[in-house]
Amino acid sequence: MSDLQGTLSEIVAALKAAGDRGKVADYIPELRTADPEMLGIAIAYIDGRLLSAGDASQAFSMQSVSKVFTLTLALGAFGDYLWDKVGREPSNEAFNSIAELERAKGVPRNPFVNAGALIVADLLLGSHQPRETIGEILRFVRFLADDGDIVVDERIARSERQTDFRNVALANFLAAFGNLRNTPERVLGVYAHHCAISLNCLQLAKAGTFLAKEGRNPSNGYAVVSAERARRINALMLTCGQYDGSGEFAFRVGLPAKSGVGGGILAIVPGVASIAVWSPGLDAHGNSQLGCAALERLAHCQGWSVFGAKP
Ligand code: GLU
Repeated sequence: MSDLQGTLSEIVAALKAAGDRGKVADYIPELRTADPEMLGIAIAYIDGRLLSAGDASQAFSMQSVSKVFTLTLALGAFGDYLWDKVGREPSNEAFNSIAELERAKGVPRNPFVNAGALIVADLLLGSHQPRETIGEILRFVRFLADDGDIVVDERIARSERQTDFRNVALANFLAAFGNLRNTPERVLGVYAHHCAISLNCLQLAKAGTFLAKEGRNPSNGYAVVSAERARRINALMLTCGQYDGSGEFAFRVGLPAKSGVGGGILAIVPGVASIAVWSPGLDAHGNSQLGCAALERLAHCQGWSVFGAKP
């Protein structure tokens, strides 16, 4: 274990010295201020041990990583009905593609592209007030991380709402196809707020551990989801979790993962641990450039892959 601590520190030091850090997302004005020099990593083992290196205690904007948690909640409430409204196929288009949604007649490719996550937010909203639903999602993440300090960053939520023209278009398309129960305005409010949850790598790694432990929360043994559902969420993360770079990520890293434009990535080593990395500079697909590189190095060193053991 202490060797792994040394490896983690080495990975962070080597990558921090790297030249190309990618480009910080700027289409949500508040995200522009993130520092591309930042790189944090945390590993939460299913037996409760935690390891971290770099800027692992620095809070960042969860953005699309939050979609793993909203999907988990919605599956708990609606089960397979959810799959009548959203597909399970990877997308070859940008995460906010309008053309793809029109071609599919209002049924999003998967729950992680923006249109799919809007469907999930709509289901969770049901007939509640947006504020109640946002509170429920935040409580769920806090419960999983066993940490009441995780918050929604209202500044980022507001900033997203001021410039979310494409998401407004997607929500209106969904409504036009009859695939939304609530008004686009209410759904977009819930969506922007869950994307604006702010946490650090240690908290995110802990929150994801149930996916490594057959659906059970390691801190209290509580079954968050069944083992089968945990496997299926992992399968969706593997195939759809890194935008239209999911194939390349599976090739390089070989682990189920979900990334967000805030530069965070949650990766799962089934039966072993949950890993969170964060570095705000993004590659051409919108995945954290240094985050992907850190996961690739770590997975390689440890022999972690869902595709087979290290030779
Ligand atoms: N809130 C962001 C958006 O809707 C999330 C994008 C992402 O992280 O993939 O554009």
